[in-house]
Amino acid sequence: MLEKEAEPTKVVRSPGLHVRSIEVMDQRGLLERFLAHGQQYPVGGFFAASTKPTPDRLDTAHPYILGIPQTTTERLLTEHATELGVDIRRGCELVGLSQDDHGVTVELADDTRLRSRYLVGCDGGRSTVRKLLGVGFPGEPARVEWLLGEVEVAVPPETLNAVAAEVRTNHVRFGPAPHEDGVYRFVVRAEGVAEDRTVPPTLEEVKQRLRALAGTDFGVHSPRWLTRFGDATRLAERYRTGRVLLAGDAAHIHPPMGGQGLNLGIQDAFNLGWKLAAEVNGWAPEALLDSYHTERHPVAAAVLDNTRAQTELLSPEPGAQAVRRLLAELMDFEEVNRYLIEKITAIGIRYDFGEGHQLLGRRMRDVGLKRGRLYDLMHGGRGLLLDQTGRLSVAGWADRVDHVVDVSEELDVPAALLRPDGHVAWVGEDQTDLLSQLPKWFGAPVN
Ligand SMILES: Cc1cc2nc3c(=O)[nH]c(=O)nc-3n(C[C@H](O)[C@H](O)[C@H](O)COP(=O)(O)OP(=O)(O)OC[C@H]3O[C@@H](n4cnc5c(N)ncnc54)[C@H](O)[C@@H]3O)c2cc1C
Repeated sequence: MLEKEAEPTKVVRSPGLHVRSIEVMDQRGLLERFLAHGQQYPVGGFFAASTKPTPDRLDTAHPYILGIPQTTTERLLTEHATELGVDIRRGCELVGLSQDDHGVTVELADDTRLRSRYLVGCDGGRSTVRKLLGVGFPGEPARVEWLLGEVEVAVPPETLNAVAAEVRTNHVRFGPAPHEDGVYRFVVRAEGVAEDRTVPPTLEEVKQRLRALAGTDFGVHSPRWLTRFGDATRLAERYRTGRVLLAGDAAHIHPPMGGQGLNLGIQDAFNLGWKLAAEVNGWAPEALLDSYHTERHPVAAAVLDNTRAQTELLSPEPGAQAVRRLLAELMDFEEVNRYLIEKITAIGIRYDFGEGHQLLGRRMRDVGLKRGRLYDLMHGGRGLLLDQTGRLSVAGWADRVDHVVDVSEELDVPAALLRPDGHVAWVGEDQTDLLSQLPKWFGAPVN
């Protein structure tokens, strides 16, 4: 892994993980570590800053948001990767790349050349890899901009909260968030859009916008971090170019409404990881690697759309505010609330595996088995046949697929074949039918 920065950043962008990412950590045996460093909050219904209670029976064993700073998430994943033997090289900036039928050659800023069989560009929204590939990044430039300041305040918390509550009575989203050491995070709408968003705002700019919004600047001082972010929304035209793939912000950018960007990137990586491993280990069926784009591109397109919708609804214009109030009323219907939560937390995703059972293409939630929890059996990142009949077999694929004969009170299908990312590839009870599906995901059988 090549990273241009010599040291990890101290700046916290994402404050937490959504349900599907929490499940992903559970499926790889990392959940305990994450829970030890995070705080659980009720998932609640939220869309465009309207909040509602969590609906009953959300389809997950983890119906909460895990508050954990992005810096901690990155540290825990770095530790895990290092334990698995990943060589993490900091201070290495990729500046060039070329590929042929057998691999990719990358060039670093210090003129070093490295060769690999595949390359994944996870190098953020301004991705060098994407630009070098010439992959288009269509979408809209920023039309709205917000200023973010992590600052200390000169007023007591009661005053701050009272003023913030007063501001919110006008249906304006405003919630100064306390951080450790008396530092608060403020987000205020900027007056216009900066020409160069890499130039941070000044403290005076933040104060001026606070005064315009709240009638006071709370005496903010001693900024720890000042930045600006906009609603630029873009999606890479393709996620795969030969042996080079894109993931995370390199593939998609959108405003942070609903807190989805980091989560989307984690889930891209979870979709891609086992497919690349299958290629490298020589058993990947034809088209498996292409399915990364087919499955994940529409997911990102949907996230871009819901952030576009939320941005519109957060506009201070009276028409937008009226639509937002109407949506907040609709969210009192449990099914509407549930639909929006499943969207934002990414547990509602269904990949298109064709017609079939309602579980097909969806990730299976963690269920209790006689011998324990399903997700505990998936830590190795292998396929899994959950067989409640005891009559099926994965002979020929046993090196790639675990056969678990067990029963669950939470599962009303005879058997289900799970991919290493937990998505359901087959449901049924017929061995011949199963044999027709195994090669599609797990390649040719071995004797
Ligand atoms: C204000 C704000 C709030 C946010 N809130 C949330 C939230 O609540 N929830 C959420 O899920 N997401 C949130 N996000 C989004 C989230 O932070 C991003 O989606 C996430 O960081 C993307 O991760 P990434 O690894 O794809 O890219 P990045 O985090 O941008 O990482 C890219 C890495 O690549 C390195 N790099 C770049 N170029 C090169 C090169 N040429 N060679 C080598 N290394 C290179 C960079 O140094 C960097 O370390 C927020 C973002 C902002 C700005």
